[in-house]
Amino acid sequence: MHARPGASSNVKLMPVLDDGPRDRKRVALTFDADLTALMRRRLVSGQVKSYYNKALIDVLRALHVPATMFLTGMWMEQYPQVVKELAADPLFELGTHTYDHRGFTEHCYTLGTVPRAQMLTDVQRAVVQLDQLDPHATRWFRFPGGCYDAAVLHELAPAGVTAVGLDVPGADGFAKSPQPIIKQVVDHVQNGSIVVLHMHGGDNAPYTAQALGPIVRELRARGYELVTVTRLVSRR
Ligand SMILES: [Zn+2]
Repeated sequence: MHARPGASSNVKLMPVLDDGPRDRKRVALTFDADLTALMRRRLVSGQVKSYYNKALIDVLRALHVPATMFLTGMWMEQYPQVVKELAADPLFELGTHTYDHRGFTEHCYTLGTVPRAQMLTDVQRAVVQLDQLDPHATRWFRFPGGCYDAAVLHELAPAGVTAVGLDVPGADGFAKSPQPIIKQVVDHVQNGSIVVLHMHGGDNAPYTAQALGPIVRELRARGYELVTVTRLVSRR
């Protein structure tokens, strides 16, 4: 297992988890629900109908696939009833993905940057929002764009969350068809993998639902058990 512990000598850091045990045929599919200020403007103006990919959740339920979802605070504000429904479904567990999906380093793609002094409150804000909607909320957290450094981990240690990274990017962002997503995931998964896909759909991740069925069937055919992140790292 590749996990860097939070309490090392005298410097306290947010713990980071990038994968699970490599000696068991388990894989965690994870789904991020991004919502940025720009995406919300597109939603409000009607350019995009929805940033909730319900078809994707329907596939997870139909195939009985456990999954871990990372929700931004703005997404929770947009879809509070959906958050409650996902929270009530024993297949799923929920974590957070910051309030509005800004970056935690200076050049994190085009996400902008959370000022250092606001980082802790930004992370905590989404945690509080999730706690209000989900009585079983986890303390899993994901950095937007996967961007962080040691100083950020130090800054965020008091948040009490664990950063869940990945070893298999799903490549579903702005995909042009399902096939490259399927190939990317099934070609790179190994024991203990954490796969990142997206559940906001819209024009940002339009083919994730179509790719998911073939991914699930292929991974199961290869003998992988699909599990939540919590189960991936549990010794049970
Ligand atoms: Zn994201």
